[in-house]
Amino acid sequence: MGVFVKFWGTRGSIPTPASWTRVYGGNTSCVEMRFDDTVFICDAGSGIRELGKDLLKRKTRPDELHLLITHTHWDHIQGFPFFIPAYLKETRIRVYDRAVDDHSRSRLLSGQMSSEYFPVPFHALGAQIVFDHLKDNQTDINGVHVRAFKLNHPAGCYGYAFEKNDLKIVYATDNELEIQPGDKFPDPSHKAGLRRMPEELVEAVRNADLLIADAQYDDQQYAIKKGWGHSSCLSVTDLAIQAGAKNLALFHHDPETTDREIDARIKTCSQRASKHGHKLAIFAAREGVELKF
Ligand SMILES: [Zn+2]
Ligand SMILES: [Zn+2]
Repeated sequence: MGVFVKFWGTRGSIPTPASWTRVYGGNTSCVEMRFDDTVFICDAGSGIRELGKDLLKRKTRPDELHLLITHTHWDHIQGFPFFIPAYLKETRIRVYDRAVDDHSRSRLLSGQMSSEYFPVPFHALGAQIVFDHLKDNQTDINGVHVRAFKLNHPAGCYGYAFEKNDLKIVYATDNELEIQPGDKFPDPSHKAGLRRMPEELVEAVRNADLLIADAQYDDQQYAIKKGWGHSSCLSVTDLAIQAGAKNLALFHHDPETTDREIDARIKTCSQRASKHGHKLAIFAAREGVELKF
């Protein structure tokens, strides 16, 4: 049957509706993955609002939704109070914390609905919201193996790999791939050596059919915003090449980056991949686009 991946929110940091974000979208992180009837939702940024409306229109509505949150920075949870299925008693939402002793996601997802921030309290939501957790960072959900792995981001963040049969989709946003002194700004039109990547991360991404990854900056922006927890699109390209990924979706676009600039990045990153003789398809995550693998 394969897997369907749909981008509902692709922007990083803050919703950015503007004439120059119309193509790739202005809503913050939210990606839906459907393995047969099992629906996973990665992050609850402002994009989840449109997903909620779409779910209500579907002929066959899933009984249960599986929500995996990478971390609780605002742009990854802010859409949840506007997710209509959460208000309906026929919905069951399973929210996964990383481990049995980790309550960060459940605490902050509900905490953002305290009266100082939002008029409707969390306990007034009609849906059955179950706080679950992964065991040793992994679990099987309806035959899909889900594994969490650590990313490099202020206050911590986790990526998720989803595998079923021979398909592997990796969602790894809000991650800083540090540029080492020896790896500085290689000209993408030359065959510079690939940047070194953390081994565990390369293993987590290994042979992914699709890698959705934080590519908020280009090398110049990264140099100014080093330590802010995000990556240059060229570093992410090098990660995808080293891990043997087949497709790379540049994700978590910077609020200041225009559609034209994103187009230019795709070109630069694709040049880099082809210089290395690697068959890697590179594109940018675009709101409303659905892919099938
Ligand atoms: Zn973010
Ligand atoms: Zn973040």
